[in-house]
This record gives sequence, C-alpha cells and structure tokens, in this order.
Amino acid sequence: MQSSSYSKREAIQLLRRGRIFLDLQSCTVKPFYEIKRCIKCQKIGHTSLQCKNDTTCGKCGESHDTRTCKKDTKQCINCQHSNKTPKTTFSTDHYAFDNKCNSYRNTLNSLRDTTRPAKKATTHNKNIP
Ligand SMILES: [Zn+2]
Ligand SMILES: [Zn+2]
Ligand SMILES: [Zn+2]
Repeated sequence: MQSSSYSKREAIQLLRRGRIFLDLQSCTVKPFYEIKRCIKCQKIGHTSLQCKNDTTCGKCGESHDTRTCKKDTKQCINCQHSNKTPKTTFSTDHYAFDNKCNSYRNTLNSLRDTTRPAKKATTHNKNIP
C-alpha cells in the first residue's frame, strides 16, 4: 500500500523550504440572492423604474403611496393576491416588504431552485402538472 500523503517530517521540511501554499480554490463562496421588489406597486420581480402598475401601499395594501400611509393595518398585497389562487393560504397581516412574507420567500426559494445546479434532471419536472 503506497500512501501519497506526506509524513510529518516531510511536511516540516516543505514548510521550511517555503513550499506550503494555500489552496485558494477550496474556498467556497456563498451565493447571494437578491429579489427585486417594487416600492411603487409592491410586486416582486421588477423595480419602480419599470413599473406600469398602480401605486399600492406596502403597509396596508390600499392604493396610496407607502410613505403617506396613516393606517395601522398590515395587509400584504402580494400574499393577498397569491391567496386568490387555490394554491396558497398565506397570512396577509404583514407589510409587503417584510422578510417573513410567504410570497417573497416562495419567490426566493424558486430562485434558489433554478440557480442551483441540478443534481438529477429527472426530478426537476415534478411540479409541472
Ligand atoms: Zn411595480
Ligand atoms: Zn397604507
Ligand atoms: Zn406577504
């Protein structure tokens, strides 16, 4: 049995000769996901610069600017909209820009799924009816 690993004495010799180097390729970088959220209509996936929708409050979900909101109610327009489909029953009592928003998290998760390298291509189609 031949071993390719260095003995302790060999390692010390290499260290003294300055032959030890850092393997930079072994460093892992965590991917950073950012989702565009419109500050005008509160929808996910675009910014206010591209927005052609009506102004919607990010706090109460009514049709006024978030900055001018004087209401105490929290209504997430994205979760409200999502609940109109039979697929989801999200709680809506949070701000649209809240990080605990289920609509936001769903989008984040689907983004993670599509950017992650597929391990098995066959399992990828399971969500398509
Ligand atoms: Zn918008
Ligand atoms: Zn409001
Ligand atoms: Zn929400």
